[in-house]
Amino acid sequence: MKCDVLVVGASAAGMMAAISAARCGSDVILLDRNPWGVDHSANTFFNGMASQTGFQVDDCYIKRSLRGMRIISPSGYCAIIPAEGYFIDRRRFDDHYLNIAEKEGVMLVEGKASGILIRSGNSRISTQQGDIQAKVTIDASGVQPALARQAGLSPIRHPQDIAWAMEATVQHPGLGEEDFFEYWIGSMAPGWKATFSPAGEDLATLGVFVRGHGMNVNPFFQSFLGRFKTYKAGVYRKIEQMKVLSIKQGGDPIAVLPGEIVSDSFMVTGGAAGQSGLIYGMRAGSICGTVAGESVSAGEVSKASLSRYERLWRSEFGRIYRLGRASLETLRNMSDRDIDELVRGISGKELILRGSLCRKALDAGIKTTRVQPKAVLDLVINIAKG
Ligand SMILES: Cc1cc2nc3c(=O)[nH]c(=O)nc-3n(C[C@H](O)[C@H](O)[C@H](O)COP(=O)(O)OP(=O)(O)OC[C@H]3O[C@@H](n4cnc5c(N)ncnc54)[C@H](O)[C@@H]3O)c2cc1C
Repeated sequence: MKCDVLVVGASAAGMMAAISAARCGSDVILLDRNPWGVDHSANTFFNGMASQTGFQVDDCYIKRSLRGMRIISPSGYCAIIPAEGYFIDRRRFDDHYLNIAEKEGVMLVEGKASGILIRSGNSRISTQQGDIQAKVTIDASGVQPALARQAGLSPIRHPQDIAWAMEATVQHPGLGEEDFFEYWIGSMAPGWKATFSPAGEDLATLGVFVRGHGMNVNPFFQSFLGRFKTYKAGVYRKIEQMKVLSIKQGGDPIAVLPGEIVSDSFMVTGGAAGQSGLIYGMRAGSICGTVAGESVSAGEVSKASLSRYERLWRSEFGRIYRLGRASLETLRNMSDRDIDELVRGISGKELILRGSLCRKALDAGIKTTRVQPKAVLDLVINIAKG
């Protein structure tokens, strides 16, 4: 098979890369190793991310609207941040964007990309069904990007800081009717978070996202389940009988940064490029696909031409990702006592953060400085370290 742009990986970033390249007039193939309709991870996002990236939320995949998030410390202190958010039906979400892709003329192909050969002006990907030749290949295959590595790139900086995750869909009467997402922070999930996300009626997800303790995070997950049931025992009858329906595992590149993400005829996007998150990953995929499509139209797919993607991404997101990494490094070095003190200091008050992202960060910084000057100093040091 031959095409202008081949996208490997049909999840958030890959779907948007394929749609955007097709909208530039490219002939696009979207390849995935899994049968269509397999559930991906990532089911919750907040409106701030959508409005910041110009992402249009569609009602067809929203399962439950959320009123905000609660930050819960190791001893159970709680701070509330109002923010409109959504729990989505991930299968419907994917179907929605795959339908758009097909309408734009993208060809969906099932198959696993197992090798890559780049020659001047094109790339050749091998699959069990045969080779696919493309003027540009985009690796959107998630946090373990084998193709990019075969192409000689290290697309993720600080790969040791990928958070390994285990997330369960759970069922208990009324549990999904809560209005707030919960971030639990502290040694129950070192380096990042444990989460509760209400999906409506009796369903919710519970997860742990851990850095620096290997890929098997089951011990943290089991311990969080126990802690969660104890915390909610006063609210729900017989919560100890809560059922675990299914479990997903994987890596979340939340604290890493993009490394080498472009070469001749080849680009990397989404989790594969350390661009974490559902909505930010889609925006990254969209920038990547547009640059791929425009470069093909201009007949110039060299690294120099495709590097416009990297520059555009860095000007839109570079600062946000560096601040995110520095914040998580600060959190990782705080003891449970420090976190309790910080959350206790702001608990009982609603942290209303308004305005641009910089304004929100400044507001949060001022509120945090009042209760934990050391945390803010550590944050500044971690930003400087990059
Ligand atoms: C358990 C868990 C829960 C998460 N929850 C959230 C959340 O609620 N909100 C949020 O914003 N972020 C969340 N994240 C982070 C988020 O999932 C990722 O940052 C983002 O979805 C990555 O999207 P992606 O399109 O880059 O890759 P992925 O979603 O990882 O998809 C990669 C795709 O590539 C395909 N693929 C891989 N290798 C090949 C190959 N060789 N050939 C062909 N196809 C291949 C896979 O089948 C898959 O479809 C979560 C992460 C995990 C692990």
